[in-house]
Amino acid sequence: RVTVLGSLNVDHIMQIKRLPLPGETMTMTDKQIAGGGKGANQAIAAARSGARTAFIGKIGADEQGKLMRTYLEDAKIDTSSVTLADAETGQAFILLQENGENSILVLGGANQALTATDIEAAKPKIKDSDFLITQFETPIEQAIKAFAYAKENGVVTILNPAPAKRVPKELLENVDLIVLNETETEILTGIKVVEEDTWRAAAEKLAKLGVQNTIITLGSKGAYYKTIEAEGFIKAFKVTAVDTTAAGDTFLGALSSQLDRDLTNIAEAIVFASMASALAVQKIGAIPSIPRLETVNEALGS
Ligand code: ADP
Repeated sequence: RVTVLGSLNVDHIMQIKRLPLPGETMTMTDKQIAGGGKGANQAIAAARSGARTAFIGKIGADEQGKLMRTYLEDAKIDTSSVTLADAETGQAFILLQENGENSILVLGGANQALTATDIEAAKPKIKDSDFLITQFETPIEQAIKAFAYAKENGVVTILNPAPAKRVPKELLENVDLIVLNETETEILTGIKVVEEDTWRAAAEKLAKLGVQNTIITLGSKGAYYKTIEAEGFIKAFKVTAVDTTAAGDTFLGALSSQLDRDLTNIAEAIVFASMASALAVQKIGAIPSIPRLETVNEALGS
């Protein structure tokens, strides 16, 4: 069972030819609304890949909140720890360029209203999990509390330190596995990741900071992993990306659905996660693009 503590955002996807310059007014090619938020994306990826999944988070008492709850429920995610905040539901404004690159502005809203009381109330759910996953779109103090409790109860904790910021030691010391992209790696370790020796140096730096197991996702290149027992690189699948929003989230959610608690099958789980995210980048939108177990297995030919 996977529990995700995190954000729920309604995404406003604005399709544009290129980014506007300062002072420039441009017309968009198209606009769409889709469910998103790193937390929601990761939970839906885990659930669609077959994991029994629960969510801890907050929405506003508005239409957007209802929409997000429906997305989770449609994926059969346990939403009993998704509560109402006195703030509007989180939103993201995504500028999606023709070349598939995106620039994102986030309104935290209800996500920022998550309190210690919410974590307290969700403890039975955390205790009952194999994995607890979180990111940084909800308050970091609550992540610290939840991870400390998870570790006390033998739950495997996975941190996706995104959007990138410095991570307090109290959190790092309770992280079993960290999954991060190139930008996040550079911000956390001060090491610019380019070639294999820099991946290893970054993982070793993270180990010094207290995290023994690391996966660095390298976009269309693939993913590098270093655990206590193993190290390797898994190439990404060659596809044409139209929207890379939620590539990392799909990767992480799909990974958690396949991973053994002792991480011994990490390489196989990464292959599965790479295929799930390669399928996701070929479709527009975060939640709409996240594939199901059958689709991933079919694409893998298994
Ligand atoms: P994030 O979305 O967090 O920045 P990455 O860009 O590193 O994360 O992508 C996560 C994973 O998604 C990669 O390790 C890779 O497996 C897959 N992926 C991302 N972009 C592509 C792409 N253009 N083609 C194929 N796979 C991709």
